[in-house]
Amino acid sequence: MSKEFICSSCNFKTQYHYFGKKPPFVKSLVMMEDAYIMKDPFSSEGGIIPLGSHCTICGKSVCLSLECSIFYTKRFCVHCVKENISEFPLEIQTEVMKKKNK
Ligand SMILES: [Zn+2]
Ligand SMILES: [Zn+2]
Repeated sequence: MSKEFICSSCNFKTQYHYFGKKPPFVKSLVMMEDAYIMKDPFSSEGGIIPLGSHCTICGKSVCLSLECSIFYTKRFCVHCVKENISEFPLEIQTEVMKKKNK
C-alpha cells in the first residue's frame, strides 16, 4: 500500500515508503530528523530519497526544497522561519531574506 507525502508549502506530492529516522531498507543509516523517505527507483543498491519532514513549530509537512523549509538543528518551514526570524542566526536570516526578494 502506498502512502502519500504532500508538501504544505509547494503542494509537491508523491508516494513515500517510510517515515522516521531509520529506514528499514537501508543498512546503517540514521537520519538527522524524522523524514519521509522513498526508495530510489533508479538505485540498485537500496538508495533512498528523503522527501520531507514536519515543521517543528507548526507541524505541517514540508519538502526539503530550500523554498519550503530550512534545517537548523530541527526542521522549520519557511513560513515559521519568517514569523520567528529574530530567533534564528544571521546566516539563516540572510538566507531567508534572499528568498523574499525573488
Ligand atoms: Zn515544498
Ligand atoms: Zn511551520
